[in-house]
Amino acid sequence: MVDAIPGPRLAHVVGCGPLKALKNRLRAHGINPSAQRLAVASYVLKTPDHPSADGVWEEALRVLPTISRATVYNTLNLFVKKGLIREVTLQPGRVRFDANTIAHHHLVDARTGRIFDVPFDSVAVTHDDLDGFDVHGYEVVLRGRKRERR
Ligand SMILES: [Zn+2]
Repeated sequence: MVDAIPGPRLAHVVGCGPLKALKNRLRAHGINPSAQRLAVASYVLKTPDHPSADGVWEEALRVLPTISRATVYNTLNLFVKKGLIREVTLQPGRVRFDANTIAHHHLVDARTGRIFDVPFDSVAVTHDDLDGFDVHGYEVVLRGRKRERR
């Protein structure tokens, strides 16, 4: 199946100025900005929600109703490979996509499942000698529940 060419819907969603900026951002990462890739990028690069691949597909369908699930999956993998976004697995078997490529930690809301970014410097990890390993990175997943207001 051939996906639709960019039409007014895509231009409407991302606007003329932002569309150009989005294209440039893809090109800067060595990605040819096809209509399908722009539909995926327009959502995944702007949401703070750390969506799953199916969540991205759902949103991309609003912009490009003919986009296939396989295209969205392939596009996300390309974006990860090119360093535009990163893949995070905060729960076993549940891959999420994160447009924040700067080192940071995550907080998972135990009640809603929502994922929040936590600045890297706000979590301190110390460790003793780990069998001769030099540790050069770590990521912490905090889990919690919002306190009730009193
Ligand atoms: Zn994140």
